[in-house]
Amino acid sequence: MKTVKLIQAHQENLSKCRLCPKMIPPVIVGQPVKSDILLIGQAPGDKEGDLGRPFAWTAGKTMFKWFDSIGVSEQDFRANVYMSAVCRCFPGKNPKGGDRVPDKTEIETCSQWLNAELELIQPKLVIPVGKLAISQYMPVNKLVDVIGKKMKLDINGIAVEMLPLPHPSGASTWHRMSPGKELLEQALNLLAKHKSWKKLIK
Ligand code: SF4
Repeated sequence: MKTVKLIQAHQENLSKCRLCPKMIPPVIVGQPVKSDILLIGQAPGDKEGDLGRPFAWTAGKTMFKWFDSIGVSEQDFRANVYMSAVCRCFPGKNPKGGDRVPDKTEIETCSQWLNAELELIQPKLVIPVGKLAISQYMPVNKLVDVIGKKMKLDINGIAVEMLPLPHPSGASTWHRMSPGKELLEQALNLLAKHKSWKKLIK
């Protein structure tokens, strides 16, 4: 079976997943594209369920502005990059503010879907967005230690380059203030120069 058909079949199964009792469906998936690039977010927010796509609200607007600044529109990004996440359902609100961070069990449970996608897509470049996504692949003490760097990693036997980005959430000021602002610029410069990214530019 062709890879895109396999990805579609994977997403059909994923969409039916209800393994985490505290998670709020629907399961949010991106477009079923075979891509050199895999983006990994944290988890959808409360608006993504109605809108039916990842990064559909304010954090997405910020993130797509970053990508637009290096030559790729939101539409082209969605059509050509596989958009994944650590967890695919809305975790609910945190009573203290913001969205609840998925717990260890939920992350572990949902990792089967992400691992299946890595296997299917065989990406060359992985872009984890935010500390939770980055920390699935390397220890992250502080974001300043990892943003603005490109690493070579072996994930489940797949050799990839990883270029972490900060979370574009409106609740975070990290990417708007020094040194985060400059490190984000550095990361976007590295991304703009990457051969997998250049292939997205028409
Ligand atoms: S978060 Fe992931 S594992 Fe949990 S119910 Fe949603 S899709 Fe399934």
